[in-house]
Amino acid sequence: MAVEKHKPTTPALTEWDYAPAPEAREIVSLEQRYGLFIGGEFVKPRSKEWQPTISPATEEKLAEVAYAGDADVNAAVGAARSAYSNGWSSLAPSERAKYMFRIARLIQERSRELAVLESLDGGKPIKESRDVDVPLAAAHFFYYAGWADKLEYAFPNRRPKPLGVAGQIIPWNFPLLMLAWKIAPALAAGNTVVLKPAETTPLTALLFADICRQADLPPGVVNIVTGDGRAGAALVKHPDVNKIAFTGSTGVGKAIQRELAGTGTKLTLELGGKAANIVFDDCALDQAVEGIVNGIYFNQGHVCCAGSRLLVQESIYEQTVAKLKRRLETLRLGDPLDKNTDIGAINSKMQLDRITELVQSGKDEGAEIYQPPCKLPEKGYWFAPTVFTNVAQSYRIAQEEIFGPVLSVLTFRTPEEAVEKANNTAYGLSAGVWTEKGSRILWMAERLRAGVVWANTFNRFDPASPFGGYKESGFGREGGRHGLEPYLSFEGDEAWGG
Ligand code: NAP
Ligand code: MG
Repeated sequence: MAVEKHKPTTPALTEWDYAPAPEAREIVSLEQRYGLFIGGEFVKPRSKEWQPTISPATEEKLAEVAYAGDADVNAAVGAARSAYSNGWSSLAPSERAKYMFRIARLIQERSRELAVLESLDGGKPIKESRDVDVPLAAAHFFYYAGWADKLEYAFPNRRPKPLGVAGQIIPWNFPLLMLAWKIAPALAAGNTVVLKPAETTPLTALLFADICRQADLPPGVVNIVTGDGRAGAALVKHPDVNKIAFTGSTGVGKAIQRELAGTGTKLTLELGGKAANIVFDDCALDQAVEGIVNGIYFNQGHVCCAGSRLLVQESIYEQTVAKLKRRLETLRLGDPLDKNTDIGAINSKMQLDRITELVQSGKDEGAEIYQPPCKLPEKGYWFAPTVFTNVAQSYRIAQEEIFGPVLSVLTFRTPEEAVEKANNTAYGLSAGVWTEKGSRILWMAERLRAGVVWANTFNRFDPASPFGGYKESGFGREGGRHGLEPYLSFEGDEAWGG
């Protein structure tokens, strides 16, 4: 009997790609309009101003959000003050902790909702909001809840006391996580807060307001005033605010510092960065390439501590760049809600324009650009992952923070030269070192002027670990026991001028 030959019905695949795997958007139900969260209620703005917030991936309007004016900020500070004086500051610290544990658990319970909303409103890939932003936000509340009744142990013999009302202003790159970095230590220390989210990403903060209600947090302990820079400025100027915590650009940070000079209001600033990611020739190179990719393309490079300057030892330069380019071809850019997406949308048109302008300056100054072949969606704001080689230290792309998926590659020969080049920046937020020698890691870490130095890894965060800058990257630390200190006053402080 003749064997029948199997005839394939479909031609063999020549291209392999991932099928779409979108996260269900239905988990989030959006209101048409969101008021300001003041005194435990969503209220209409006295300013009568509302503005849309959009999805940067589709330019679709998601909801309208209130824009706070001076009178609204004043009302929020008033609510925070009365919550502080009428109960919160005198509440047993273990009771404060209970509320915070409750909030942490609710963030976990509502994590899918928060992750989808974060990706919708801000454009970051769902795998990042789901696996990084939201779990870390919950971890911050768990961690600081643990400190609430142990402040005397955290600062022995210093008699820590809360400050009062904290005004907090955050950026759009990690909206919920920055909120957690700010609110958790403030509440643990016994303060009440007024928080202003960024203009383009207010929605997870408003969902967090709902979580505060669900947790039965006393009204006025947390107040959220949405709006633009004017609301932030009003909060900074308000005479009844005891402490300002700001994360954002160095320009605005400087303006805030000028405004507060001589007022006695406490201030911490978490500003920009231009981190060096330093790769030595004895490192595990494939692992380092993963670290380089994570360092600059995580969250589209909208990361203050992004490894935006790659310093490669000259002997492995060509090999590293070749591996890096090959790896870039495998990154998938597109729908932030797709679980396979590595690179989502640029947060706003304004940010896209800024990235485009800086990339043009790199080309004009003579650097060589590489972008892997990748199709950008027609609607929304997108930028292909980009590598610049042939970069001189004086180029703008080596000096200025691009805050986008753009890497500038430089080289060095000796560890001394690596340190010189890494420190040759106005910033000092973070750095990375890739080498198999432990002694070299320590030698480098001692000399790098950066608040965080990662070794054989990058962009690692833990609530127990302090984070903050040197030089124009700001001052003060967030995270860890250090992160409590800016929210407390200590016995004897007054003698030194507060
Ligand atoms: P930005 O303009 O400084 O904005 C940050 C926040 O400040 C936003 O909520 C903003 O409101 C508000 N704001 C604007 N003008 C203000 C004023 N005059 N007074 C008070 N508040 C004001 O920064 P961005 O460009 O949105 O954010 C990106 C920058 O943040 C980058 O440079 C990045 O490095 C830095 N960043 C630093 C860290 C860190 O931990 N060190 C973390 C994340 C980001 P609107 O959004 O309404 O303008
Ligand atoms: Mg938005």
